[in-house]
Amino acid sequence: MDDCIFCRIASGDIPSEIVLEDGDFVAFRDIDPKASEHLLVVPREHIVSLNDVGRWPGNKGQSLLEFIVRAAEQVGIKESGYRALTNVGPDGGQEVQHLHFHILGGEDLGDFR
Ligand code: AMP
Repeated sequence: MDDCIFCRIASGDIPSEIVLEDGDFVAFRDIDPKASEHLLVVPREHIVSLNDVGRWPGNKGQSLLEFIVRAAEQVGIKESGYRALTNVGPDGGQEVQHLHFHILGGEDLGDFR
C-alpha cells in the first residue's frame, strides 16, 4: 500500500535501521525508542493487525514468532530477556495500521504497567 509507512519501510522506499529481514518479515529500530533496545517486526504483506492473521497460511504465524526470536537474538537480547507485544485497535493504542510487534529490551523493563 502506497500510503502505509510500514509497507514503505519494508520495501526500502523509506530508510530505516533494519536489523534483520527475510522474504516475509522485516525487523527495524523504532524511531522513538521506549527502551534501550526497541525493534518493530512487520510482515512485508500489508495486514492491519493481529485480528487479520486468521487468513494467513498455518505456518506463517509460527514463522513470525520464530522471526521475533531471531530478531531479539540479532540485537543481543535473547538471553537477557525482552518483551514482545502488539497493539490492536483504538483501545490497544495502535497508531500505525500495519501489523507490527514491538520488541523491547536491553534493560530491566520491570512490571508490565
Ligand atoms: P503503535 O502505537 O503500536 O502503532 O506503534 C507505532 C510505532 O511506530 C511507534 O512506536 C513509533 O515510534 C513507530 N514509528 C513510526 N514511524 C516510524 C518510522 N518511520 N520508523 C521507525 N519507527 C516508526
